[in-house]
Amino acid sequence: MSEIAKLREEICVISKSLYDRGLTGGSSGNISARASDGTIVMTPTGSSLGFLDPARISHLSQDLKLISGDAPTKEIPLHTAFYDTRAGTGAVVHLHSTYSVALSMLPQVDPDDALPPLTPYAIMRLGKVKLLPFFLPGDPEMGEAVRALKGKYTAVLLANHGPVVAGPDLWAATNAMEELEETAKLAVLTQAMSPKHLTKAQISALITRFGAPK
Ligand code: ZN
Repeated sequence: MSEIAKLREEICVISKSLYDRGLTGGSSGNISARASDGTIVMTPTGSSLGFLDPARISHLSQDLKLISGDAPTKEIPLHTAFYDTRAGTGAVVHLHSTYSVALSMLPQVDPDDALPPLTPYAIMRLGKVKLLPFFLPGDPEMGEAVRALKGKYTAVLLANHGPVVAGPDLWAATNAMEELEETAKLAVLTQAMSPKHLTKAQISALITRFGAPK
């Protein structure tokens, strides 16, 4: 199987799993992966992640011309912004997952460190998470806002919209996205109970032992 065919299959398997577990509904969410030749495969516009056909996944040239498959998601600038600013990015996952969206709407959230330090894997897989403002759907300013971060963050929350996570490959980006959603869930469920956060010493011990996200 060619690399592109394999990436298309992987996107369908991962998308269905995310959809089946209620992590993004309707025709929301989009996923992309960059092949070794620099071309990009991406979920098509208007498609539901639960019902994708590998043959219809968009395959785009390095200059984003459609090579095969259906037209790509309108949220393409979000994806290319990560590929262009984070050298090791091989995949980008964007969902409208409930708890990450809920967290993005809470007034006390620190925009430069939106996810509280509750669990070790969120720190190891995501690092700090940036909260970006609300943009109208399809607004190219969304991509510009990610570019302005200059590759510093592996994950962002779009306020009142959803999370975007980059990773070295599809599985790593998906696992990091799931860690973000689960930790956002813990943060939202426990926010009125003053939960104990990991201490600065515990966080630096984690980073020393396991490193920061690539
Ligand atoms: Zn979206």
